[in-house]
Amino acid sequence: MSINASRSPEYVARALLAFLEIWPPVDLSTIVRKIGLSVVNVPSDFEGALVRIENRPKGVIGLRTGMSKRRRRFTIAHEIGHYVLPGHGISRAFCSKKRIGLLGKSTNEFESAANQFAGEFLLPRKAVSAMIGELGVSIDTCELVSECFQTSLTAAAVRCVELSDVWVALVESRNGVVRQVKRGDRFKDYVPINKKFGSEALANELSENQLHKQGMVPAWAWIRIESTSLKIMEDSFLIPKYNRVLTLLSEMT
Ligand SMILES: [Zn+2]
Repeated sequence: MSINASRSPEYVARALLAFLEIWPPVDLSTIVRKIGLSVVNVPSDFEGALVRIENRPKGVIGLRTGMSKRRRRFTIAHEIGHYVLPGHGISRAFCSKKRIGLLGKSTNEFESAANQFAGEFLLPRKAVSAMIGELGVSIDTCELVSECFQTSLTAAAVRCVELSDVWVALVESRNGVVRQVKRGDRFKDYVPINKKFGSEALANELSENQLHKQGMVPAWAWIRIESTSLKIMEDSFLIPKYNRVLTLLSEMT
């Protein structure tokens, strides 16, 4: 299979899946074998690595030992991206934890492309769009998507937001402070980063006894806005293991 260098990472992901006749949720062990890769676990500082075998269409993916099953899947897909994307023909790639994932923008174009590839490879636009078209974007939908495609809730939520055609954003926070924001195409408002969200946010009420909360809140609790009366829908979910809260902000329905 030869790939035109001008094709997007998403296009290459779709083409590779079609070429291998594999459908989601993708069986990564079959794919890595078919394209000449093997996977080894190594105690390491990096999250994932790709080492090509010189002059042969083969390579080895190295994974940091101890990562979760779904994190492994995303990391393998990311390294497959480095292996097949045009222009990534370097002999070795070592990828740090913060550079692998859909949330947050990598300033490195190769890492960014490998993440886009992995996003489409594991969470295909066509299938995810059909699900959110039917169910809308909510934490419940994101959980269903993550189960169907065997990804983390965060990866599923990012994909749901970026493929949505309504006003919606995903916010990741820790200890009441906004860390990262993924805005859908129609979400033009500003969510301050590295600032505490408002006292009226439902995310303040989450605990190990109540992981999920949904309801209307004043828009100012999350976004920079003049109006004190406008309300928006907040759908927040606590991931206790990582002490992270994922919040979807959307218009009231
Ligand atoms: Zn990488």
